[in-house]
Amino acid sequence: MKCPECAGNNTQKVKVTVLTGTTGGSVTGVGVNTNLDLGIARAKIKTQTSMAAKYTPPPEPILMGKWTMRIFGGLTSVIFIYMWFDSADWGIIFRLVPAGFSVVSILMFLFSFTDTSSTNKNIRNKWQVKKDLYEKGWICLQCGKEWMP
Ligand SMILES: [Zn+2]
Repeated sequence: MKCPECAGNNTQKVKVTVLTGTTGGSVTGVGVNTNLDLGIARAKIKTQTSMAAKYTPPPEPILMGKWTMRIFGGLTSVIFIYMWFDSADWGIIFRLVPAGFSVVSILMFLFSFTDTSSTNKNIRNKWQVKKDLYEKGWICLQCGKEWMP
């Protein structure tokens, strides 16, 4: 494949760039990230060249609908706030645990009243773009141009 930018022949499929630059396995974990996407992620234990790391798509986001967030966030808020009030004799460090989870739960509950479907759609679209570039994209090793044939 010829580069559409510089017409160079030193081009490569993005997927090949990632696969040849990656070694290692994977583990599965559960968590909440800073965007409040609660989900299960396949965290990769790996060593990668910086180029492979750049083009590796993140794990497919598992997104919660607003009612799931509202009910789950509401219920866990009540539980953790109760735990926090009930933890008066726990010692300050241990009290931070229910306090922290209360905040996360309340934020999730409040977040469910925003336009979650368009937020979820944005997160999904961003992931899809990276995924498509990974699956079908090409890269020029001469000028750095990325394109979809
Ligand atoms: Zn080029």
